[in-house]
Amino acid sequence: MVSAKNLFDESSGAAVPGERVSRRHYFVANLFSIGLLVVAVVATPVATLPLPPVPGYTTVFGTAMFVINILLAAFLFSKGAIEDREDAVRLGAAYFFIAAIFVPLTAASPGGIMAGPVIGNADSELWLWCGWHLGFALAILRYALLPRPVGRASPVFRQVLSVLVIVLAVTLVTDFGADRLPVVSGAAISGGAISGGGGTQFAGWAAALPLSILALLMLATAAVARLGARTPEQLWLSVGMVAACFDVWLTYRGGAHFSLGWYLAMFGSVFTSLTVMVSLFYDLTRVYGHLAVANEALLDQAGRDGLTGLFNRRRLDEALAREWLRAKRDRQPLSVLMIDVDYFKGFNDTYGHQEGDACLRRLAAVLQDAVRRPADFVARYGGEEFLVCLPGTPAAGAYEIATKIRKALCDLAIPHAGSPLHVVTISIGLASLVPPEGMIADQLVAAADMGLYRAKSAGRDRVMHAELKAFQTGIASESAVSWARST
Ligand code: GH3
Ligand code: MG
Ligand code: MG
Repeated sequence: MVSAKNLFDESSGAAVPGERVSRRHYFVANLFSIGLLVVAVVATPVATLPLPPVPGYTTVFGTAMFVINILLAAFLFSKGAIEDREDAVRLGAAYFFIAAIFVPLTAASPGGIMAGPVIGNADSELWLWCGWHLGFALAILRYALLPRPVGRASPVFRQVLSVLVIVLAVTLVTDFGADRLPVVSGAAISGGAISGGGGTQFAGWAAALPLSILALLMLATAAVARLGARTPEQLWLSVGMVAACFDVWLTYRGGAHFSLGWYLAMFGSVFTSLTVMVSLFYDLTRVYGHLAVANEALLDQAGRDGLTGLFNRRRLDEALAREWLRAKRDRQPLSVLMIDVDYFKGFNDTYGHQEGDACLRRLAAVLQDAVRRPADFVARYGGEEFLVCLPGTPAAGAYEIATKIRKALCDLAIPHAGSPLHVVTISIGLASLVPPEGMIADQLVAAADMGLYRAKSAGRDRVMHAELKAFQTGIASESAVSWARST
C-alpha cells in the first residue's frame, strides 16, 4: 500500500524519495538572501525618508499577513499530522502565532481598522510588534533546537490552543495593561503630538527592544541554517529568517510609519512566510506528479498476475471485452489461444512447487515473447492455463503464432521426467472469428477451451482448432479439425 508517508524520504523529509535539495535550488535561495541583505544595506542610511502615506495600507497588510500565515499554518499542520512529523507541526505553530497576533496588532495599529488604535494606547502597536517578532523567534528556536521525537508529532489542537492562549495573554498585557507598560514611542517619550500614527518608534532606551529581538532572530536564523537545508522547506525557511531580520532592522531604522524603512520592512514580513509557502507548493506539485506515476503503476499492478506478471483474470475480462467490441465494429477477425501445460501435476510432484512456479514463469516469458503487435496480450487464465489474445489476426496467423510458441518451449527443453515426452510441453486450443451479432466473447474462449480439450484427448503437445458453428444458439461447438501436430 502506498501511504502518504511512503512518498517522503524518511531521512531527509524530501518530497520525492531519495531527492535532495538541488544546486539550482540553493543558488536561487542564496540569491534571494543576498538580495535582501543588499536592499537592507542600501536602504539603511535613507530608511527614515518619509514617503506619502497610502490609505488602507495597514489594513491590506494586516489582512494579507493573517491570510498568508493562517494558510501556511494549516498547510504545515496537516502535513505534520498526516506524516506524523513534529518539525512541521512546530513550524505550523510558529506561523499560526503570526496569523493570530495580527488580529490584535491590526486592531491596535492606527489606520488598521480605524484612524486610531481600536484597542490599547499609542504604544500597544509597538508592544504587539515586539510580541510578534519575539514569539516568532522563540518558536523558530524551538523548531530548530529542541529535540524532535521521530514519528510522534504533538496534537495540532494543543499547539493551536497554546498559541491562542499566548496571543490572548500578550494582547491583555499590551492593550489592556498598556498604561502600566513603559512608554516606547518617541512622540510619547518627547511628549509631542502623535502624527500619522505612532510617531517615532522605539526612541531612546526603547531602541534596545528591536535590537535585542533582532539579535534573537539572528540566533534563530543561525539555528535554522545549522539544520543544513536538507529539505526545500528548511532551505526556504532560512531565506524567510533573513527576511524576518531584514524586517526588524528596517522597522527600527525607519523609525516611523510611512517611512521608506517601514514600507520595505513590510515586504520582509510577507517574505518571511511566502518563501516557505511557495516552497511547500512547489513540493506539493512534485508530490502530485509522483502520486500520479505511483497510481498508474499501482493500477497496472492490480491487473497483473503476481507469479508471471501477465494480465490477471480481471484484466483479461476487460481487455477481451474491449477487443471483442472493436473487432465486431471493425469487422476484423479476433483469435484466441487457450494454452495448458501437459502433465503439470506430475511436474510438481517430481520437482516440487517452486520448480513448477519457475517453469510457469519461463512459459510466461515465451508467450510474452511470441506476441508482437501492440493490441496482442497474454493472460494467466488459471493455474497452469494461459490465454493469448490476437486482435486483427485470422486463424492462419494465430496458428502460426501457436506453432511458434510450441517450438520456443520445445527449444527450452525443460526436463520433465513424469511426461512420456520427457520435456515440458503444452497443448493449445485455437479459436478465431469475426464477432457476429448475438455472440459474446466468452463463447470464443469456450471454443478455444474445446480445442484445448481435443488437443489433450488427441495425445497432448499439439494445436487444435475449434471451428465455431452454433453461436446463434449460444453454444460453441467445434468441427474438430486437427490442423497439425508439429514436432
Ligand atoms: P494435463 O496434461 O491433462 O493438463 O495434466 P495436468 O497434470 O497438467 O492437469 P491438471 O489440471 O490435473 O493439473 C494442473 C496442475 O497444475 C495442478 C497444480 O499442481 C498445478 N498448478 C496450478 N497452478 C499452479 C501454480 O501456480 N504453481 C505451480 N507450481 N503449480 C500449479
Ligand atoms: Mg495441464
Ligand atoms: Mg489445467
